[in-house]
Amino acid sequence: MNMATPPEIFQLLSQRLASYRQDIIDWQRELVRRNAVGPDAGGPGEGEKAAYLKELLQGWGLRVKNYPAPDNRVDAGDRPNLVAYLPGRRPEKVWVLSHLDVVPPGEEALWHSDPYDLRVEGDRLYGRGTEDNHHGIVISLLAVRAFLDLGFTPHRTIALALVSDEETGSHKGLGYLVQHHLHLFAPGDLIIVPDAGNSQGTMIEVAEKSILWLKLTVEGRQGHASRPRLSRNTLRAAAHMIVAFEALHQEFPLEIPLFDPPSSTFEPTKKEANVPNINTIPGRNVFYLDCRVLPEYDLDRVMARIKEIGEEVARRFEVSLQVEPVQALQAPPATSPDAPVVRALEEAIKTVYDREARPQGIGGGTVAAFFRQQGLPAAVWMTTNDTAHQPNEYCEIGTLIDDARVLAHVILNSD
Ligand SMILES: [Zn+2]
Repeated sequence: MNMATPPEIFQLLSQRLASYRQDIIDWQRELVRRNAVGPDAGGPGEGEKAAYLKELLQGWGLRVKNYPAPDNRVDAGDRPNLVAYLPGRRPEKVWVLSHLDVVPPGEEALWHSDPYDLRVEGDRLYGRGTEDNHHGIVISLLAVRAFLDLGFTPHRTIALALVSDEETGSHKGLGYLVQHHLHLFAPGDLIIVPDAGNSQGTMIEVAEKSILWLKLTVEGRQGHASRPRLSRNTLRAAAHMIVAFEALHQEFPLEIPLFDPPSSTFEPTKKEANVPNINTIPGRNVFYLDCRVLPEYDLDRVMARIKEIGEEVARRFEVSLQVEPVQALQAPPATSPDAPVVRALEEAIKTVYDREARPQGIGGGTVAAFFRQQGLPAAVWMTTNDTAHQPNEYCEIGTLIDDARVLAHVILNSD
């Protein structure tokens, strides 16, 4: 029934995609206004956003299934994981996996407008989540919409996965799906995760660093700030530990050019509140490290060194230290740079952007690791402004349309 040749069909899809500017704004507005911060970050979860998308996609005639992960910290009692299909002629799928959750806005004063109220400024759409990860959601909606509106049946089934909990470990998101519903995915499927990339759209992420998130609890003795000798100041001890951890860069010095940045990173991040008043020496301090470690290093060894370095400082300040992993994910084998999904993306990027894409490794730790652990080759790709997690996060309508063209090209040309 499709009498046109693939290049002609691609032209039609490409033109059609350019006509969805208002739809993009409408979808982004609806997505942005539904706060989908996960409960680990103090939010209500992804329920409302998932309900909106489920209704939208069902309204288009797509089959949508939810694979909820139980979680009694949210009102609904579970975290949604939606899978939607636009059936092709063959059961093999082109997957586009995006995440529903967002990170909190951070310091609200840094925002020039309400983070949960979409602001349109020319081609730019501002709001929490517009880039991370509504970019992925919207380009997959666009691709589906274009195939539907033109009445083209794709070779492969187009499958959208809209998952929870990406920002806080994926235990209730893709981690849950691959653990309990692995049958959804097949090794012959093309799996695209539009959740990282570069501004040129030329970075196809195929390898990741291991992720190690550690909670460090320093226990000392609380007391009056005027008489420090009667106390054990845990904030001072924690500060010295953080400085001592700088040595990790020398202890794990490997650099691999496939990765950006090429070396392992060890960043102190969150610190829990301690005493509410200035004149009390805190007897307890809790802080966190976010380590992104090259796959060549064993995470157990890294954690052991962090413990040793921290305990050495703890002894000096006569406090105790407890180190607990919050997340420890040893990096899985990379997706081959020759995998069909990588080749298909390279070809599509060449066609749409007239640029040569390059397979790379990153330290971001995307959900693709869960696929790779199961031997499913997944490629992470999108064109990004690098505003994820920042105030005044934005995306650009033109870029969304072009990235949707890349998806359409992959879908059209995969046999
Ligand atoms: Zn993301």
